[in-house]
Amino acid sequence: MKAMVLGKIDSLEKNNMPLVMKHIPVPVPGKKDILVKVRACGVCHTELDEVEGRTPPYNLPVVLGHQVVGMVEDRGSNANTFKKGARVGIAWIFSACGRCKLCLERNENLCEQFKATGRDVNGGYAEYMTVSEDFAYKIPDVFSDSEAAPLLCAGAVGYRALRLTGIEDGGNLGLTGFGASNHIVLKIARQKYPKTDIFVFARNAKERDFAKELGAVWAGDTEEYSPEKLDCIIDATPVWKPIVEALKNLEKGGRLVINAIRKEDVDKEYLLKLDYSLHLWHEKEIKSVANVTRRDVSEFLEIAADIPIKPEIQEFNLEEANQALRELKEGKIRGAKVLRID
Ligand SMILES: [Zn+2]
Ligand SMILES: [Zn+2]
Repeated sequence: MKAMVLGKIDSLEKNNMPLVMKHIPVPVPGKKDILVKVRACGVCHTELDEVEGRTPPYNLPVVLGHQVVGMVEDRGSNANTFKKGARVGIAWIFSACGRCKLCLERNENLCEQFKATGRDVNGGYAEYMTVSEDFAYKIPDVFSDSEAAPLLCAGAVGYRALRLTGIEDGGNLGLTGFGASNHIVLKIARQKYPKTDIFVFARNAKERDFAKELGAVWAGDTEEYSPEKLDCIIDATPVWKPIVEALKNLEKGGRLVINAIRKEDVDKEYLLKLDYSLHLWHEKEIKSVANVTRRDVSEFLEIAADIPIKPEIQEFNLEEANQALRELKEGKIRGAKVLRID
């Protein structure tokens, strides 16, 4: 089968063709696995982190890709959840031990033996991949293959972030940073918590206007005071300033949820502005989000289908994966990038 393979970690500036088209054997499903013929695979920022070594794969070479949509082509002898020909999705969480305390509490995203699709095992930048049937999801009919793919990452993680806020309908919700993830969070929150008022903080005036169009009651710059205190705020930025500025807007006992894999150090000194009484006192909480559990992915797909949330997409052929990565790096974003594999 054809696969775009990462053989070596390097910055995209040094090597702008990090993936190489190879012909490799079609994987054979284990007993509980399904063999999926891939039709679409989303291109995610995390792939840049893998290629450039910020989240390096354990073993090279590896096939990237963790927003996979395809059809079940074959199944192992003990796999019977999906019929042959069923359309399924595969997300970042590829497997976990299933026995530890965290797995039993359904926080398998925190399992010591957590494996990530397209980093720790081969992913979806290829014609086929295998996965345990327990880590695959039915894709609702309302989505095309390419529309469903990007939902499997940013959307599902955004949903987890919203869940971790513990918000109740009618509580005030803040969103700081208004990119792909928080814009989906706003749509889910409007659907799930109709009595909740949503306040958006964004540097860019266009993003603030967009937030209001989508139903935010207020939108302001990162350091502004919101007109009301907020019960919870989700930060979806790569830096530190929005965290400090968000904390001052939290209600007593409120919670800030940080939806980021890593923070950049460019403005780390902003943390010195942290003032205990203004930002932390009165039992304010801070919680980070570490990717997704299966529950997040399947619940999110259902809600996304109900609304429905249809991402803007830009399609590439499998062979154009390097170009898609370069455009992502350069910030040329016209909708979520998806590889079509026919
Ligand atoms: Zn991702
Ligand atoms: Zn475990």
